[in-house]
Amino acid sequence: MIKNEKAVVVFSGGQDSTTCLFWAKQTFKDVIAVTFNYGQRHDAEIDVAKKIAADFNIPHHILDMGLLNQLAPSALTRDEILIKERDGQPPTTFVEGRNLLFLSFAAILGKQYDARHIVTGVCETDFSGYPDCRDSFVKSLNVTLNLSMDFDFVIHTPLMWLDKKQTWALADDLGAFDYVRENTLTCYNGIKGSGCGECPACKLRQNGLDQYKEDKRGDVQ
Ligand SMILES: [Zn+2]
Repeated sequence: MIKNEKAVVVFSGGQDSTTCLFWAKQTFKDVIAVTFNYGQRHDAEIDVAKKIAADFNIPHHILDMGLLNQLAPSALTRDEILIKERDGQPPTTFVEGRNLLFLSFAAILGKQYDARHIVTGVCETDFSGYPDCRDSFVKSLNVTLNLSMDFDFVIHTPLMWLDKKQTWALADDLGAFDYVRENTLTCYNGIKGSGCGECPACKLRQNGLDQYKEDKRGDVQ
């Protein structure tokens, strides 16, 4: 019965990981959040994550991962790299090896707390260009983590097969729709809530929200 167990949520303060935080709160007895500071262009991201964790009294660890920026600069960490889509390869926002490292560090932290459940908002549906968001990668890493630490980790990916519309629906089911809409930060330009409206992350978030609202209106009629 997982209700009695502890989970670590990989938490950025964005729509997806905040929805996962609510999911974990409902699924597990104890929840710990972990945020990685890898020199994101916007400190706002860390502040937003801190505030959300504090709002729900969730123990929150912020781990320094500056090394990642040193090794694999991306448009998320360097002002001089523009955010753009690229044919045949991941967009410039892709941070090489990010989920490999984040999930591994989350697992190491989890083991200190005897928390074998790791929750992450990775998703194949919207981000097909990111190889480490794939289900096969997560399953493979799960096996590796268990072998490396001789521990029965279970990596949970509640958003893996959802599109943005369905992620809004999940937030709504969890009673967190308004909270997620107003308090999370998805925007590449560091603007909370509905964001700048122009960057790819804002557009994806807004399209999903519009579709979800439309479907809901359809249901009411
Ligand atoms: Zn934006």
